[in-house]
Amino acid sequence: MNTPRIAIVGAGISGICMGVALRRAGFTDFTLFEKGADYGGTWRDNVYPGLVCDVPSRYYQFTFAMNPEWSRLYSTGPEIKDYLVGVAHDHGLREHTRFGVEVTAAEFTGDGWRVSGSDGRVERFDFVLCATGFLHRPNLPDIPGLDEFRGTVMHSARWRDDVELTGKRVGVIGTGSTGTQLVGALAGQVPKVVMFQRTPQWILPTVNRAYTGVSKQLYRRIPLLGKASYHLNRGFFAAFSQGLVHPGRVRTFIQWVVARNLRSVEDPVLRRKLTPDYQAMCKRLVVSDRFYRAIQRPDVELVTEGIDHIDEHGVVTADGVHHDLDILLLATGFDSHAFMRPMAITGTDGRTLDEAWAAGPRAFEGVMMPDFPNLFMLVGPHSPFANHPLTAVAEAQSARIVGWLTRWRAGEFETVAPTRAATDRYNARMRAAAPSTVWTTGCQSWYLGKDGLPELWPWTPSAYEKLIRSTPTAADYRLSQRAVTRK
Ligand code: NAP
Repeated sequence: MNTPRIAIVGAGISGICMGVALRRAGFTDFTLFEKGADYGGTWRDNVYPGLVCDVPSRYYQFTFAMNPEWSRLYSTGPEIKDYLVGVAHDHGLREHTRFGVEVTAAEFTGDGWRVSGSDGRVERFDFVLCATGFLHRPNLPDIPGLDEFRGTVMHSARWRDDVELTGKRVGVIGTGSTGTQLVGALAGQVPKVVMFQRTPQWILPTVNRAYTGVSKQLYRRIPLLGKASYHLNRGFFAAFSQGLVHPGRVRTFIQWVVARNLRSVEDPVLRRKLTPDYQAMCKRLVVSDRFYRAIQRPDVELVTEGIDHIDEHGVVTADGVHHDLDILLLATGFDSHAFMRPMAITGTDGRTLDEAWAAGPRAFEGVMMPDFPNLFMLVGPHSPFANHPLTAVAEAQSARIVGWLTRWRAGEFETVAPTRAATDRYNARMRAAAPSTVWTTGCQSWYLGKDGLPELWPWTPSAYEKLIRSTPTAADYRLSQRAVTRK
């Protein structure tokens, strides 16, 4: 039987998921390249105080590695990272993983892919599977004077444990999931928190209760409970996603819930400042059990005046007010369109990824591209789904990729890539559907691409799973046949 040599780039959620899927399908010749020192991707990089996943623990996990030990309804970042490390070790990925090696380039040679690593090695692979994630390149704000600040400046994804927060006045720029979590965690722990808000966010209320010893015992003893809980959450998210992609009752209901939640802010002036002028879910919905409580504290200040510049001692807003600070936290998000960059990827006829994506990241069914044979992506363009868990997306996409690898192993083809026509059709359908989604209802967000349309799948996650788990349509692909049989 032919055995493909496979490179997986990235050992976060999707890389781990892919590695496990390969092993389970009997593929043994694969290398998992990871530039960091451990598994976990975003959950390894993000260690800021207050980091909690806003998808329930019992849903934010792999179906092949159900964990009865989750401590709370919503897990903390470190707990998820430990879970992912455990999955990787339990499924034998350690022997396949090369930590500290960044893939710098991958070039299709006509006889597979030539992959260059930061360790100077250049190797040949039959397939390259990119599991590089999309929220890893920090978006650093271009604010005049940022370099002049004498205190400490940290982006939320570059947290430094050596920075002492005790007794410090802390500024937080950004009001997304990260900024609200930071403010929720720091309020009351430091003498002063100043949140700089450019745009207010709608907040979905929640309660993060702990699982009792008895309930964990039950989940341990009755695995069916874990599965039931997973599917219950899946049903809830499926209902929620209807509101994302169609106007209607779900959207109206969520709007009502967040507006009601906002009423818990007692001061009408503060409430007005926190009131968005766009529909709920247009930006990624923030889920929090503590933000409104935190922002109403006397030691927390919300600044809505625009930032003019930063000087040695703090932030100066457009009204001329100087906000004295010791630490400035940038919760300013990520370049979500960077996808596999800065890797230099070159497909057939010298076509580079940057050329192919000059108008923005485009793929076929989220996982493949024309002109880049035998290259697959996990959680690639248009496959993130707002608040939907990436664990589920990665599982479905891994199954599709394993399907192709199995066909290669059976000798059905040498290389596969989608046709340009199929890819164009697929992207045109998505663009046509985009206007009915909530993401185009009048707000700025990281979901939007250069053309102002969301780079998200514009239908429900279950519709995507159905598509990606179906048998690929032969006419959509160009397959080349094997000239010689490999050993
Ligand atoms: P984000 O949602 O992109 O929010 C960035 C914030 O920074 C926004 O409030 C933005 O304001 C502000 N900002 C950016 N540049 C600025 C500037 N120059 N001056 C002033 N404000 C500026 O980033 P995030 O909060 O890090 O979240 C990113 C994504 O990570 C989330 O959407 C989510 O997918 C993921 N995440 C998930 C969790 C979880 O619980 N699962 C937790 C954290 C993050 P504007 O709104 O005006 O642009």
